[in-house]
Amino acid sequence: MNDPRSCDVVGIGFGPSNLGLAVALDEHNRGGGRLAGVFFERQEEFTWHRDMLIEGATVQVSFLKDLVTLRRPTSEYSFLAYLHAKERLIDFVNHKNLFPSRIEFNDYLRWVAGHFAHLVDYSCTVVGVRPVRHGGRVEAMDVTVRRGGPQGRLEVRRARNIVLGTGLRPALPPGTPVSARVWHSDELLTRISRLQGPPPRRIVVVGAGQSAAEVVEYAHRTFTDAEVCAVFARYGYSPADDSPFANRVFDPEAVDLHYAAGEDVRRMMSDYHRNTNYSVVDTDLIDELYRRFYQEKVSGRRRLRILNLSRVVEVLDTGDGVRVVVESLPSAELDVLDADLVVLATGYRESDVFGLLGEMGEHCLRDQRGRPRVTRDYRVETADDVECGIYLQGPTEHTHGISSGLLSNIAVRSGEILHSIAVRSGQSPRPAPASRNGSAAQAPTAALAAAGGRRDGAGPWEPGEEA
Ligand SMILES: Cc1cc2nc3c(=O)[nH]c(=O)nc-3n(C[C@H](O)[C@H](O)[C@H](O)COP(=O)(O)OP(=O)(O)OC[C@H]3O[C@@H](n4cnc5c(N)ncnc54)[C@H](O)[C@@H]3O)c2cc1C
Repeated sequence: MNDPRSCDVVGIGFGPSNLGLAVALDEHNRGGGRLAGVFFERQEEFTWHRDMLIEGATVQVSFLKDLVTLRRPTSEYSFLAYLHAKERLIDFVNHKNLFPSRIEFNDYLRWVAGHFAHLVDYSCTVVGVRPVRHGGRVEAMDVTVRRGGPQGRLEVRRARNIVLGTGLRPALPPGTPVSARVWHSDELLTRISRLQGPPPRRIVVVGAGQSAAEVVEYAHRTFTDAEVCAVFARYGYSPADDSPFANRVFDPEAVDLHYAAGEDVRRMMSDYHRNTNYSVVDTDLIDELYRRFYQEKVSGRRRLRILNLSRVVEVLDTGDGVRVVVESLPSAELDVLDADLVVLATGYRESDVFGLLGEMGEHCLRDQRGRPRVTRDYRVETADDVECGIYLQGPTEHTHGISSGLLSNIAVRSGEILHSIAVRSGQSPRPAPASRNGSAAQAPTAALAAAGGRRDGAGPWEPGEEA
């Protein structure tokens, strides 16, 4: 079937991953390709984790791991090209810093997104995907999109390939009652901006990962009369492993190794290197929190309380405050905190692939644990009668390793996905993205190493179980 109404690529979500794909698509078409693409994004405009754009927070990855450089160092959509366009290149160089602020990196991403506005429908939420059969085969998919808010009208777009780039989902402890005073860190800045009445006097922050530490720092700095209580099960915040050999776990080559390995070795790799990314905190931030903690001991005006080896056993919004019951793990003693706000920095989960795919999900193959089976080119394995392609940007940690949900590999992964789509569409693609043993990817990788890279992880995206 060659339905002219169907699009070669429909991207679901337009965060950094699918923005990277839009750049790769553009490169392909400028090189003589003819792939038509459209992206649907539920936000009204491009923003990267808008509620965690905390003043002073930095990106946990070198700027050289932008949307393009590791695939195509000469691209006009690199972070350096952005700095040049903004007339800040020399100032950035003088800054001697590989890790821009999140606010600046968001501005970079928005700058790139602005070049691709014609490919994106904002305020559009994809709500399901249905197979389109022809002659007994599934040759396309109908992507159902809700335009506008919950009452918005439904539209259908036909696709020969879809690429899911829907990001992470906030994870809340089971049974936690979300309210105006109790919410996930993913909503931080919006919720804070809506606060009414007198400033909070006590804020409880649950969690021990990067987001939790950032929220503690932010709350302590912003609400200068408030007590900030950090509650977590660990003894102390743990530093991220940002050493150079461990950081190689985020390299494009590590994806090959992870993919080729058996289940046991994959698990071993992930376990060994969890502390590059999960439930760990930037050392500078740990030091800053400790500095404040100690200074308050000296001054006697103590506002930063660390309730370590502890867990929250009850959260109750009483209408004019929140009652938080905290259990000390060694003694089992209970401490009742009357708080004004509770921020649950309890991590994120991968997106729900099958929930989004709906009917089309029935044609996808799963592994023994119910996760999608995925080929090396990030394509979901499907039943034999399916000819169209479903690609995943993100929820492939089980097959492609720890960098799946991060920025680290977007440039290379987007190129690989686009290459796969082009080949399957019968278009002679540009040369395959050189991600592994040579050519284009090597130069910037070496440059990064020479420049003394910090880790890619230490993310605020620690898994939900950590508190
Ligand atoms: C606070 C925070 C800071 C982080 N910092 C770093 C960092 O410094 N370095 C790093 O490597 N990683 C970091 N991460 C990890 C993060 O996953 C990546 O930075 C990056 O956002 C991944 O891009 P993405 O496009 O895959 O997902 P996202 O950025 O989450 O984008 C997904 C997009 O899909 C949209 N969407 C979702 N569902 C639908 C739907 N049904 N229909 C339409 N649109 C939809 C969402 O609105 C969103 O815009 C951070 C994560 C968080 C939460």
